[in-house]
Amino acid sequence: MAPDPDPSRAAPTNGDLARIFHEIGDLLELKGELVFKTVAYHRAADTIDHSPIDVAAAYRQGTPPRIAGVGTAIGDKIAEIVATGRLRFLDRLRDEVPPSLVELLRIPGLGPRTVRLIHETLGIATLDELRAAAEAGRLRTIRGLSAKTETTILDGIAALAAHADRPARMLLGEADEIVARLVAALRDTPGVAWIEPAGSYRRGRETIGDIDLLAETDDPEGLVERFTSLTGIERIINRGNHKAAIRLVDGPQVDLMIVPPGAAGTYRIHFTGSRDHNVRLRERARDRGWSLSEKGFLRLAEVAESPEMAESPEMAESPEMAEMAEIAVATADDPGADPAPTAILASDAAPELRTFLTEEAAYAFLDLPFVEPELREDSGEIEAALAGRLPALVRLADLRGDLHSHSDWSDGVHPIEAMADAARRRGHAYQVLTDHSRSLAIAHGLDPDRVALQRRVIAELNARYADEEADGRAPDGAGPDGFRLLHGCELEIRADGRLDYDDDLLATFDIVVASLHVARRQSRAELTARVLAAIASPHVDVIAHPAGRKVQGRDDLDLDWEAVFTAAAVTGTALEINGSDHRLDLTAERARLAAAAGCLLAIDSDAHRIEEFVHLRWGVGQARRGWIEAPIVVNTWPLADLLGWAAAKPDRVATLG
Ligand SMILES: [Zn+2]
Ligand SMILES: [Zn+2]
Repeated sequence: MAPDPDPSRAAPTNGDLARIFHEIGDLLELKGELVFKTVAYHRAADTIDHSPIDVAAAYRQGTPPRIAGVGTAIGDKIAEIVATGRLRFLDRLRDEVPPSLVELLRIPGLGPRTVRLIHETLGIATLDELRAAAEAGRLRTIRGLSAKTETTILDGIAALAAHADRPARMLLGEADEIVARLVAALRDTPGVAWIEPAGSYRRGRETIGDIDLLAETDDPEGLVERFTSLTGIERIINRGNHKAAIRLVDGPQVDLMIVPPGAAGTYRIHFTGSRDHNVRLRERARDRGWSLSEKGFLRLAEVAESPEMAESPEMAESPEMAEMAEIAVATADDPGADPAPTAILASDAAPELRTFLTEEAAYAFLDLPFVEPELREDSGEIEAALAGRLPALVRLADLRGDLHSHSDWSDGVHPIEAMADAARRRGHAYQVLTDHSRSLAIAHGLDPDRVALQRRVIAELNARYADEEADGRAPDGAGPDGFRLLHGCELEIRADGRLDYDDDLLATFDIVVASLHVARRQSRAELTARVLAAIASPHVDVIAHPAGRKVQGRDDLDLDWEAVFTAAAVTGTALEINGSDHRLDLTAERARLAAAAGCLLAIDSDAHRIEEFVHLRWGVGQARRGWIEAPIVVNTWPLADLLGWAAAKPDRVATLG
């Protein structure tokens, strides 16, 4: 007998529901259920987690929303949780499979089959028990396991612990939101000329620790006052005349630094970092007789060790020097903080300080061209700058389209038309709709009949776009060259390496994006073979999110990257930089290696809803950190070139024999 709904009980959030279904997926995996079944629960959990609708509230009101991947089986479970606060199915599963085993699944290199085997044979159910057994060499007594398994497990446990100790950093979506909120709240403060983010955020790093803000204002006191009385502050860490630091509730530390008028150039460099890049700049300055700090360049009369500094009367009188000493003990995560500027001025004359309005001018003072923030990691950019070989980095404005997006036909949120219209209003010339292929049943993967239906919808939309363009009725924001919605798919590379549609069907798509979501724990040889099989297909144009990574969440697929890069290069198959802040896959480092190996790239949103087209900006940031230039990014190409490239894949593959 199901109890009546109890309206006083706190309704589960989407996050609560997601956690429940992830746990079910994990427990089923441990029970040895079929892969598609476990994937179904994980995907439903992801969709609920990202749903804009309050799912529990909708169920409580008797209007269950249509959610991709949530059919009757999962829908009934949500209804039960909402009505009773419990789920009998999960209770039973927990009885069958100790929930502590789920923790063991997180150990890199340890799959569900082995966890089950170890549990059934030795009764091991916790991480501590597993570590002890591995250390004592007891695992090798199990048939099929060896001393090597024990080493793998101990290494995995160590990696897990290292991961847990690392403080959580923000993903770009969260950092973006906070930066936008802070800038909006402070921009209108009287006297403020400008306020902007610096630090790792400006360098486009994958994750952000602290947020650094720089501002110029006539009224520093007023700005510090407004900054330290913002709502949502947990505590004020410090507060000075020209700077302050706060910690946000449940959020990061935010440092505000106020720049004196006309001197922003070196401040921007200093507070953008990275530390390693700035060290290189300071060395170069020192070689030329100058000490570089955020304040500017100080002429070095004589370099000595630092203690005299505070005793020099000129120093104490100079507000610049007083503040420089203060900044020398800057906070630990200050991207520009360095082994303190120890330049000591021994002469009795006032030190000569050179300041610059712009970064360009400050770099020029060191005879260097402007170095883009995303390159400032001391990973060869100074050498490239000196040699005149800095890359012309791809820009967001270079993108003419996006090769990877979803609609509510598979696991997206918005209808095809809404997604296409949004892409069109971004000024893009094309958008590729790539709903999932059929074997991802839980993501409503499309069978061939639905592919045909979808093609008709796309044709109708394109007819409307053509009409509107012919009549000059294209909406605001639409690009001058017109817009077309292309038909693609996100083609599943199955566990056995076969592709999810046959060649005849694949040949009918404009663009095919292939990816791998299941059986991620296979061996390196198996995983690599699957990716290479997709690359060798005459119809696969892009490998999506090639490493299958989740930022701060999931390890990369164990692939032979050299083999992947080589095959992608010779077949002209593009590798994706997936711009989702959860994926950012390829990494910047891999993108750079891929480019060096001669690969083409695509920078995609993988948008499942209109708001996620913002992913393109993050994808471009990732590409820029990988030194990527526009010409090798296929979605910077005009439509005709893109389609020509895709159409020529069969020939390229055929020539290889
Ligand atoms: Zn995918
Ligand atoms: Zn996708």
